Amino acid sequence: MSKERTEISSLGEFGLIDHLTKNIELQNASSVLGVGDDAAVIDHFGKQTVITTDLLLEGVHFDLVYTPLKHLGYKSVIVNLSDVYAMNAIPTQVIMSIGISNRFSVEAIDEFYEGVYAACNKYGVDLVGGDTTSSQKGLVISVTAIGEVTPDTYVKRSTAKKGDLLCVSGDLGAAYVGLLFLEREKKIYMESPGVQPDLEGESYVIGRLLKPEARKDIVEFFAKEEIQPTAMIDISDGLSSEILHICKESALGCVLYEEKIPIAEEMKKAAFKFEIDPTACALSGGEDYELLFTIAQSDYEKLVLNEQISVVGYMTEPDQGAHIITKGGGKHAITAQGWNHLKQNNS
Ligand code: ADP
Ligand code: MG
Repeated sequence: MSKERTEISSLGEFGLIDHLTKNIELQNASSVLGVGDDAAVIDHFGKQTVITTDLLLEGVHFDLVYTPLKHLGYKSVIVNLSDVYAMNAIPTQVIMSIGISNRFSVEAIDEFYEGVYAACNKYGVDLVGGDTTSSQKGLVISVTAIGEVTPDTYVKRSTAKKGDLLCVSGDLGAAYVGLLFLEREKKIYMESPGVQPDLEGESYVIGRLLKPEARKDIVEFFAKEEIQPTAMIDISDGLSSEILHICKESALGCVLYEEKIPIAEEMKKAAFKFEIDPTACALSGGEDYELLFTIAQSDYEKLVLNEQISVVGYMTEPDQGAHIITKGGGKHAITAQGWNHLKQNNS
């Protein structure tokens, strides 16, 4: 099974850039000028521009032992789009910069870009630029996403109001359990390379880790139903940590109900295999790329139309603090490390 291997040096930097970007067809009117000049030109036609960037380092943010390059390319784009959606904006362009060593062949970089373009096509964004450099060791990925929003309808973390409903999209904690499986199999593989990985039946949680999606549908739903969230953040570091951001930035407290936290059946089963509490995974796991937002109670009727949205609590006066009411009726302070705390109390 020897795969073809083309050295990057045979194309050179400009040859590689041309190879990677030659088939781009711009999809957005706002992409006035794309790849090929000193800079891209973007016209958002009276809209406001949202911009965000992420740096992803091999060994810190991803592990190529169990992350296929195509998935990595896809996820690199998605994590940035998620930040744009968290502003209630629509992403329109991305800029992708990579640092690569000669460990990677042209075929490997092609695989990475297959994932990049798959995400761009699915979300209707244009790749309009980037930078390509050599790295001595380790893959470096920097992605910038640009989006547009009708003036002053962007949503900050700091503007939640007392009495607002606290809501989340999708389900939480699965990506973390997916990571536990992959780390376990990696360890077994490192100790005895002949053993085939045993990931049977875990495709949901592993898929949530390796191929996350961004909640475009939720932002479109807000626009359609004319819902203006009062505060919003994307859930990349676990529900606890993101709730505390909204509370702190908005100078409020909150009540979160454990029983309302959306958890997929697949994730619950998988968590039990590791003897960990599914709630703890949702609170502290991370990499869900769901949205956490607050809305005025008067918008509740509109929200129930969407099965992908769960109301998990409400905002309170700041002196009430941030609390979780457990299934057993206990009341505990939400901490950024809510996990050990809950494990002790619940299992
Ligand atoms: P400069 O030397 O002016 O920075 P480059 O030669 O680095 O220009 O880039 C040429 C063009 O190719 C630019 O439009 C740049 O944005 C784009 N580009 C470079 N690397 C990449 C990449 N990895 N992915 C997408 N576009 C890229
Ligand atoms: Mg350059």
